[in-house]
Amino acid sequence: MKKVFAVFGNPIQQSLSPQIHQHFAAQHKLDIAYEKILSDEQDFSNDVSQFFESGGIGCNVTAPFKELAFAMCTELTDHAKRAQAVNTLYKNDTGALCGHNTDGAGLLQDLTANHNLSLKNKHIIVLGAGGATRGILQPLIDQAPNRITLINRTVEKAHALADEFSDVFSIEAVGADNISTDIPPADLLINGTSASLDGKLPIANDSPIINSNTVSYDLSYASEPTRFLQWSKERGCKQHYDGRGMLVEQAALAFTTWNAVSVSTDSLIRNFEALKTQ
Ligand code: NDP
Repeated sequence: MKKVFAVFGNPIQQSLSPQIHQHFAAQHKLDIAYEKILSDEQDFSNDVSQFFESGGIGCNVTAPFKELAFAMCTELTDHAKRAQAVNTLYKNDTGALCGHNTDGAGLLQDLTANHNLSLKNKHIIVLGAGGATRGILQPLIDQAPNRITLINRTVEKAHALADEFSDVFSIEAVGADNISTDIPPADLLINGTSASLDGKLPIANDSPIINSNTVSYDLSYASEPTRFLQWSKERGCKQHYDGRGMLVEQAALAFTTWNAVSVSTDSLIRNFEALKTQ
């Protein structure tokens, strides 16, 4: 029988998850259905319950429902607890709703396996203090970096997020308009803001946080290089990546969670643009 999966979001039309998951299913000759479900904040909980009651096996959750999904779960993985957000839902053997978050591990897989980077003893600067940043901090900390600096437009949010991780790592929180020259350029600079979606740069053009040795990574992705990646190139960076690898890797981890099989991601990432036409 066809296994049924879905992704919930609003908006949801732009989601590439159905194509990505169908590629993974084809690797194992699995017959699956993967739907896009538009929901809203009021109906989200009922919509998810209905999905599982009608035989759904697992679903992904994207903006703006990751925190609502977190609140619905009776069981949470450590990644989900740290992120306080869930992007992967499933039922366990006793029927309890379980929540996992694969975003941070997906980013790590892209950085370390696909781009061959080691983060040990490195200085990581993360721009942004929203949900995506909360989801990636623990996996970054697990790589034993030397220093993590969190820079956000609203400095209070950077401080609050750094405090949440103070039991495991001393993250330095800084306001985007007040970056001291004491902060050395990043070895890895991650744009975790949503500024790229508006074609904006989240930091001053002449900011000292980047130099030609910095590897830059934008969690956002688009057909053309984002403003942040264009700027990274202008500032001399030789390695600059967007978030398409993270998107595919977080999907692979969700697929494995539901189907207990691993999948290959290389060809999907290489042919990412072609997904949009499928
Ligand atoms: P949130 O809305 O939770 O947070 C947005 C963050 O961006 C805040 O820190 C906000 O700052 C900052 N910001 C927004 N606009 C600007 C701007 N013009 N200049 C400076 N800072 C700005 O969003 P998320 O954390 O959920 O998502 C962030 C990005 O990550 C999105 O682009 C999303 O598409 C991407 N993403 C990619 C994934 C992937 O698989 N590749 C997975 C998840 C997310 P302030 O606090 O001051 O408002």
